[in-house]
Amino acid sequence: MRLIFLGPPGAGKGTQAQIVSEWLSIPHISTGDILRAAVKNETELGLKAKSYMDAGDLVPDSLILDMIRDRLEQPDAKSGWILDGFPRNVAQAQKLDEMLASMGQSFDRILSLEVPDDVLVARLLGRGKDQGRSDDNEAVIRRRLEVFYESTAPILEFYGNRPELTIVNGDAELDAVSEKLKTAIRPLSSV
Ligand code: AMP
Repeated sequence: MRLIFLGPPGAGKGTQAQIVSEWLSIPHISTGDILRAAVKNETELGLKAKSYMDAGDLVPDSLILDMIRDRLEQPDAKSGWILDGFPRNVAQAQKLDEMLASMGQSFDRILSLEVPDDVLVARLLGRGKDQGRSDDNEAVIRRRLEVFYESTAPILEFYGNRPELTIVNGDAELDAVSEKLKTAIRPLSSV
């Protein structure tokens, strides 16, 4: 099972992707988590990515594409994955198609979580306090939302007429959203 989770920052993608990855026993691949680990470990990638992340901007595609290719080639990703935070713009979505074609793979479902802006901002401000993420302060949150609408939302048009695209209302209780996601995925899986 190969799934792509889309949605604005604060939509609950990461939490839901983790729940679904445990349910299906497939790896949860979050580009944000990989980048935050790289920053923490002060790797070459982390040092290059940090200033973009702190500003709420996208890290350059060249860095992201090598990173995601390496990850998809790991043995645990052979039989399935959930992508969370990638693709983040139309160029990345096009590259993903090419990458998967070159690996003889394709994805089964794109799940797009929709949540109103005011709910997103409230959730992200709360998360900044709880989890101490340095990019969860109000100015950077506004920038990340702007980047979402400018760069990431056009992916929905790019994928618009593919039958794999499913829109899910993410403005509900965590368990209710998980159930909706599972309902969308269940017909494709043996779970
Ligand atoms: P996230 O945890 O997905 O919200 O990502 C946190 C930050 O990491 C983003 O604001 C970007 O700076 C960076 N990032 C994560 N994924 C990508 C990506 N696919 N392309 C570019 N930048 C990314």
